[in-house]
Amino acid sequence: MVATRKRLSVDEYVEGFRARDRAVLARAITLVESDAPRHVALAQEVLTALLPLTGGARRVGISGVPGVGKSTFIDAFGTLLTQQGKTVAVLAIDPSSSVSGGSILGDKTRMAKLSRDEKAFIRPSPTSGTLGGVNRKTRETMLLCEAFGFDVVLIETVGVGQSETVVADMVDFYLVLMLAGAGDELQGIKRGILEVADMLAINKADGENEVYAKRARSEYQTALHLMRGHGGTWHPPVLTCSALLNVGLAELWAKIEEHHEKLGATGELAARRESQQVHWMWSMIEERLLADLRLTPDVRTLLPGLERDLRAGRVTATSAASAVLATFDQARR
Ligand code: GDP
Repeated sequence: MVATRKRLSVDEYVEGFRARDRAVLARAITLVESDAPRHVALAQEVLTALLPLTGGARRVGISGVPGVGKSTFIDAFGTLLTQQGKTVAVLAIDPSSSVSGGSILGDKTRMAKLSRDEKAFIRPSPTSGTLGGVNRKTRETMLLCEAFGFDVVLIETVGVGQSETVVADMVDFYLVLMLAGAGDELQGIKRGILEVADMLAINKADGENEVYAKRARSEYQTALHLMRGHGGTWHPPVLTCSALLNVGLAELWAKIEEHHEKLGATGELAARRESQQVHWMWSMIEERLLADLRLTPDVRTLLPGLERDLRAGRVTATSAASAVLATFDQARR
């Protein structure tokens, strides 16, 4: 255990991870969640030192609108996995939390059973920063959990805004929870989510609702076939489950295993992780460049008048963009 709050060295972090010291894991997560420049630098050193220990976990994203049953599901699904002897980390991305100030997702009280489970670790969504910032923190926390030795990392998010593509882009398998009897509009489910889902599960398939869930299952299966075609190694299945009654959860995990085996064998899983890394690098470059550009004093001076001219049709968008970039370029020299 780490008794004092003295600053840990990179080696001490690595030793703590090898010794599976949860206090060190918690400190490492706090470090990657910090926006202070000296923490950011140390966090990168720690992550680099831990990189050889990463890569071994199953990364599974789980999303669905509020009320679909995500916390009930993760509580039961995580418990099923720990009963199989696996260790499970639960992380969350909540794009609304930076606005509302409180994180709704990944809250321990919502996962009563799992939060008392020694084989599990639950971390709520980072609450500060842009979606890009929350994204980086969650990715790096995922790597920390992986280096620590968790067998499965579950990343929870609501299926709104851009959070679903952010999560789909950091996991091996993306599971979307749905409800029967609610129109797509109502569920806030966009076409985009169906395009990236690796599996749909119609939750609350119990009691009177079971028959509707089964009907929704075949409807979604047809919709997915139409949308995604029949080619490829993996056809996203649609299953039903009841998180509340713990029905169908083992079947869902079996599908995730099947996906891992099939796409592991073809090399698609490794390729997916590789392209995620490259994509991630580019999105960070874009985000930082754009932030630098917006903060450049000359650009800030130029923009209001330029936008006025653009709206009034006095300049073209192309020449306005060139003017902004030229000003940015000049300021960086
Ligand atoms: P979240 O907002 O997506 O995290 O949803 P919750 O897990 O908080 O669940 C919302 C409500 O749906 C709660 O009252 C749950 O008890 C209920 N619920 C969750 N899963 C099921 C299920 O499989 N069947 C039924 N009947 N109710 C469920």
